[in-house]
Amino acid sequence: MKNIVISGYYGQLNTGDEAILRVLIDKLREYEREENEDLNIVVLSSRPELTSKLYNVDSVNRKKIWRVVKSIKKCDIFISGGGSLFQNETSNRSLYYYLFQIFVAKLFGKKVFIFSQGIGPIKKWYNILIFKHIIKLADYITVRDYDSFDLLHRLKLKKRVDLSADPAFLLNPCCEKRVEKLLEKYNIDFNKKTIGIVVRKWKKEKDMADKIAQIADILIENEGYNVVFIPFQGKWDIIKINEIISKMKNKPYILSENFQPHELLGVFRNFDLIVGMRLHSLIFAAIMNTRFIGISYDPKIDSFLKMYGLKPAGYVDSFDINNVLINIQYMLSETKMLKKIEQTTQNMVQKAEKSFEILKEALNSIKKKKSINVLDVRVDCVNFYKAKEKCIEFLATSSPHIVFTPNVEMIMLSQKDEKFKKVLNSSDLNIPDGIGVVWASKYFGEKLFERVTGFDMMMSLMPELEKKGCRVFLLGAKPGIAEKAKENLLKQFKNLEICGVYHGYFSEEENDTVVEIINSSKADVLFVAMGMKKQEEWIYKNKKKLKCKLIMGVGGSLDVLSGEVKRAPVMFQRLGLEWFYRLITQPWRFKRMLALPKFVLVVLKTRIFGGR
Ligand code: UDP
Repeated sequence: MKNIVISGYYGQLNTGDEAILRVLIDKLREYEREENEDLNIVVLSSRPELTSKLYNVDSVNRKKIWRVVKSIKKCDIFISGGGSLFQNETSNRSLYYYLFQIFVAKLFGKKVFIFSQGIGPIKKWYNILIFKHIIKLADYITVRDYDSFDLLHRLKLKKRVDLSADPAFLLNPCCEKRVEKLLEKYNIDFNKKTIGIVVRKWKKEKDMADKIAQIADILIENEGYNVVFIPFQGKWDIIKINEIISKMKNKPYILSENFQPHELLGVFRNFDLIVGMRLHSLIFAAIMNTRFIGISYDPKIDSFLKMYGLKPAGYVDSFDINNVLINIQYMLSETKMLKKIEQTTQNMVQKAEKSFEILKEALNSIKKKKSINVLDVRVDCVNFYKAKEKCIEFLATSSPHIVFTPNVEMIMLSQKDEKFKKVLNSSDLNIPDGIGVVWASKYFGEKLFERVTGFDMMMSLMPELEKKGCRVFLLGAKPGIAEKAKENLLKQFKNLEICGVYHGYFSEEENDTVVEIINSSKADVLFVAMGMKKQEEWIYKNKKKLKCKLIMGVGGSLDVLSGEVKRAPVMFQRLGLEWFYRLITQPWRFKRMLALPKFVLVVLKTRIFGGR
């Protein structure tokens, strides 16, 4: 599993940045499929929960520096992705923040990719100096416009820099049917010429709101056009739009702030022209072959327009109403304009692909194992997020998939029991349950990312199972315990379908009846909690008869769920000392736990004297 951290201005509800992230993730997923690789993607975001949900990735709060550093430490490649991260027009803090991340990544010896960025403006000589010396540590640098390319060239980085284009050029619009649905409630008559206006708040804007209001009024009153305001960054743009509208005599349309990037892109198809302040409104127009004019607030707008052979219709602090109107009319009437936009965009799309070709090379150069053998027991190189993703994938299949959770005790037991070793190695997924396995992993070819306990995995699957309407069967523990566990689970997950429970002390003769009970309950998921070895061997023996999609051995989880046994406090879990808590609360486990020091000795012996 290759670990990737992506940093950018994500989770801020900015359509442009989210479009970049969408393309990046889609392309990485494509890579996974084509190369049959597992990628663990962590996105640094201001709204990690939302980012995680939208893109189906792991996400870390970008403001929690310690967590950011920890994620970078664990990654294989750090992507400083898209947008204009290296500038101090907005603040020095953000420039230093993004440079700090690169510094940390290099400190830990990670590969760093400055991905399709727009560079500058950077004010003050010392900031340029700091920027230069950190940026040249990067292993791969691509920029999205010629001006950024030129700037890096002038800085004499002595480093290969590739000219690419904004990743958003590769975004696919939603289908026309979806666009129709999205626009239904606005009742816009698209038989009339329709002008989209995209504005943003900017510190040097002066009387911009008054002027845009006048332009919009003239377009509606004198020309009979539709004017539609399009927010590109949620409520921040809506505030500006409302200010403009309060100054207007006519009533324009305002689109919702909740469109996803590919939806907004699809909507752009319906416009005759876009008056854009935000860079990605111009990029979206270009992709959809819609005419556009730009009002510049930042050199990146000038750079973009230059690539289309255009100039800004004005600057945010000084534009002239008449000049903007002349530009609109010129653009609308120029017959060759659409052809020109189309050709340049084709070129931009090719350039945008360049960054992804280099990314593919970078990923291919990282050699990672899919699984390792810890004392001859296969452990899959997955972290929590990837393990969960795989379990969910198993749910979509028709044949049973087995998940085991090898820990130190199981591995040690298997040293004396070849049959048990065979059973453990027969699963579809072996997740590293326990800090001991994670510790040992570095001696067996690859340091594992983190421990993934069976109980945590089972619990994290519950909301998914509830959402998907999957049927769950709980098998194991003393009579009455599984019922209690069911009760407690239903308190937490009201709509979870627990289609059956059965204790784990049935005889050999009863076995077929138990299998029959499970099958007739039509369970999709079977959690088997009969303790290590017994549960794995039972699953192995019965897997051909069972009709569930996911079967997982979960040890003493039903005891914990029922409240019979208390799980170690979170602090113990975080420190990897769950075993110690168990030892003090259940001292009779002492003998079993001797496996841990024995394991350490065997691992070290293997490392020193070789042999495996
Ligand atoms: N158990 C069971 N059937 C058996 C033996 C044990 O259902 O024949 C149950 C037992 O009641 C307990 C769980 O298996 O709920 C074992 O818990 P433990 O914490 O020891 O799990 P382990 O550490 O072995 O995975």
